[in-house]
Amino acid sequence: MILAQAGTLVVCPNGHRICRVAKDIVIPGKVRAELFCDWHYRFPRKFSAYDPIPDCPECGEAFLRPNATLGRWQLHTADGWR
Ligand SMILES: [Zn+2]
Repeated sequence: MILAQAGTLVVCPNGHRICRVAKDIVIPGKVRAELFCDWHYRFPRKFSAYDPIPDCPECGEAFLRPNATLGRWQLHTADGWR
């Protein structure tokens, strides 16, 4: 299953533009920073490709969340959670 295709715009739940999806995100799979590009913010802390992904620098909301019921990650885009 493809959670998000390359090029998808990632926005936080409050509408702040975060980044784009760099390569198709396949579920199941690990969600890592290397899957994203075109970061809209300078993050206060540097993170590497394998670090956990930070929350929205503007409002602190998560734009990625684990969903135990679905058994996978969810990503927030302009269309909402997917
Ligand atoms: Zn935000």
